[in-house]
Amino acid sequence: MSSAAPSRGRAAARVDLFTESVIREMTRLSDEHGAINLAQGFPDFDAPEAVKDAARRAIAEGINQYPVTWGAPRFRAAIASKYLRFGWPEVDPETEIVVTCGSTEAMAASFLALIEPGAEVLLFEPFYENYGPDAYLAGGVPKVLPLDPPDWRLDLDRLADAIGPRTRAIVLTTPHNPTGRVFDQRELSGIAAAAIENDLLVFTDEIYEHILYDGRCHRSIALLDGMWERTVTISALSKTYSVTGWRVGWAVAASPLMASIRKVHDFLTVAAPAPLQEAGVVALELPSEYYESLAMEYQERRDTFLELAAGPGLEMTKPEGAYYAMAWIGPLRERLGLPDDVAFCQQLVLRAGVAAVPGSSFFVDPAAGRDLIRFAFPKRLETLRAAAARLASFAEAAE
Ligand code: GLN
Repeated sequence: MSSAAPSRGRAAARVDLFTESVIREMTRLSDEHGAINLAQGFPDFDAPEAVKDAARRAIAEGINQYPVTWGAPRFRAAIASKYLRFGWPEVDPETEIVVTCGSTEAMAASFLALIEPGAEVLLFEPFYENYGPDAYLAGGVPKVLPLDPPDWRLDLDRLADAIGPRTRAIVLTTPHNPTGRVFDQRELSGIAAAAIENDLLVFTDEIYEHILYDGRCHRSIALLDGMWERTVTISALSKTYSVTGWRVGWAVAASPLMASIRKVHDFLTVAAPAPLQEAGVVALELPSEYYESLAMEYQERRDTFLELAAGPGLEMTKPEGAYYAMAWIGPLRERLGLPDDVAFCQQLVLRAGVAAVPGSSFFVDPAAGRDLIRFAFPKRLETLRAAAARLASFAEAAE
């Protein structure tokens, strides 16, 4: 082919700025080797029967065509009512909510709608891997501010230094993926003050809002003074109702921001699945006991997993929320003669039969995550016990 031929098959430059998802790649590797998948964060237990029944019913009753692009009216009303029930003021479903294909689309659509090319987006590192590609796809530039290990606290003095003239937005995840931090009032107020002072947007991913331990409560930064008009709050059905495969999420924001996000959403996906939004109404109307049991059951999973799996070779900081635990693998990795976290996770699948996510996928500089891996524990207790036993034999074999 002559050099003047069109360069078919070559990626656009923006696609070369990021790699494929390491989390999803670990799931593929795990499946290939029949390992226990503690890599990608999804439950190995089922959704509530009432929610599954509602989905079946919706399909049977013919709710199978496009819903309103912003989200089925009944579902948007149910989202607004649930926020009200959990302490929010009234949110207007007509102008302040959009229903998306998972929180993944909500975040991507928000970036595309609100980030100017060349603008910087500040991420707290380690960060959930999607935010980097989201920033690049929008033409933005991700910048990071490291959280302080081993407790992963935010240093507010360094926050002020990390904000520059091109910073447009801060991304917050609370409860936090991958560390399990639940940012406290002081940290949230500090982020809010910095956002107001520098006229920044805040994209807050609150998908783990109901997975909280030791009596903690969820705080939404959108509700702090001066934050409503600059915050996009994102959540989904996925984690709270154990339906990660349904791909139903949403964003909530003041109408001037929401109008732009809706425009992008309309042309990206048109709408999230209609019958699953109907089932979502039933999910969102579950009584408060549902959320109490959810948190209690997750606390048992956290405690079981940490008690059995954490220890020499796999030191873990206790998560305050969400369902991930970061483990420091440095000494074990060195004893095994492995160069980094990626090699470590490959060996963990092959030799232990357990999949985890290499820590480097949550850092801009892979070296910063070389001695960390992330376990996801939204699993039945028997799965967690089996995984922990495999991890223990793996660590013992390296003695
Ligand atoms: N949020 C989950 C994780 O961090 C799942 C990611 C995904 O594949 N969408 O593992």
